[in-house]
Amino acid sequence: MFPDTDSSQTIIDCFLTAARNAGVILKTGTAIKDLVIEDEGSFRIDLDNGTGIRADKVCVTSGSLKSSPLTRAIGSLGHSVEPLVPSLFASDVSDPLLEGLAGLSVQNASVKTIPKSPPQTGPVLITHRGFSGPAILRLSAWEARTLQAQDYRFGISINWLGNTRPEELRSTFASFRAESGKALVKNRIPGEIPLPPLGAAR
Ligand SMILES: Cc1cc2nc3c(=O)[nH]c(=O)nc-3n(C[C@H](O)[C@H](O)[C@H](O)COP(=O)(O)OP(=O)(O)OC[C@H]3O[C@@H](n4cnc5c(N)ncnc54)[C@H](O)[C@@H]3O)c2cc1C
Repeated sequence: MFPDTDSSQTIIDCFLTAARNAGVILKTGTAIKDLVIEDEGSFRIDLDNGTGIRADKVCVTSGSLKSSPLTRAIGSLGHSVEPLVPSLFASDVSDPLLEGLAGLSVQNASVKTIPKSPPQTGPVLITHRGFSGPAILRLSAWEARTLQAQDYRFGISINWLGNTRPEELRSTFASFRAESGKALVKNRIPGEIPLPPLGAAR
C-alpha cells in the first residue's frame, strides 16, 4: 500500500478504526509465548506476562516468524511454516539506455517479468541502479518465490503507457500526424512520459 498521504500512519489509522468499529479488544505490551490446544478443542494462548487467554479460533499474523517462539508453537499444532524469501525490493539493471535517466518517474506504467508474469501497474522510478517504485516493488512481492528460484536473474518488460494497447497508440499517432504532422515527436509525447534530461541516452 502506498497511500496518497505518503504516511504509514494512514494505514495504522485505517486498521485501528476498522478494529474499533468491529469491537476488537486490543492488548498491547505483552507477547504470545505459546499456543496450546486444550482438551475440549479450544486454544490456550500463553502470554509472557504470565497470564493466558482462551479462544475458539486463533489467527496468527505475526509478520516474519524468524526466531519467534511461535514457530515452535505452530509446528507443534501440526502446521508447517513456509521458508522466508525476500520481498519488496528494487531491481538492479545496468543498461546503457538508462544512463542519465536516474530520477525520472512515470506514474502509470505496467511491468512484468519475462517470459510471463501477471503485470503490476503503478508508478515506476528510474534509479541510479535500475528500477524502483510501487509497481516494481509489487512485482517483487508477487513474484518473490519465482524470482528466488531464478536466482534473481530475470528479464523485465515495462509498458511506460500503462495498459495502453498498441492499436490505441497507433490511432493516437495517426491523429497527431493528421493534426500536426510537422511537430517534433518530443513535443507530442503521448501519455505522461517525461523528457530525458539533455545529454542522456535516448
Ligand atoms: C523499512 C520498511 C518499509 C516498508 N514500506 C512499505 C510501504 O511503503 N508500503 C507497503 O505496503 N509495505 C511496506 N513495508 C512492508 C510492510 O511493512 C509489511 O509488508 C507489513 O507490515 C506486514 O504486515 P504484517 O501484519 O504481516 O506483519 P507486521 O507488520 O510485521 O506485524 C506483525 C506484528 O506481530 C507482532 N508479533 C510478532 N510476534 C509476536 C508474538 N509472539 N506475540 C505478540 N505479537 C507478536 C509484532 O510485534 C508486529 O506488531 C515496509 C517494510 C519495511 C521493513
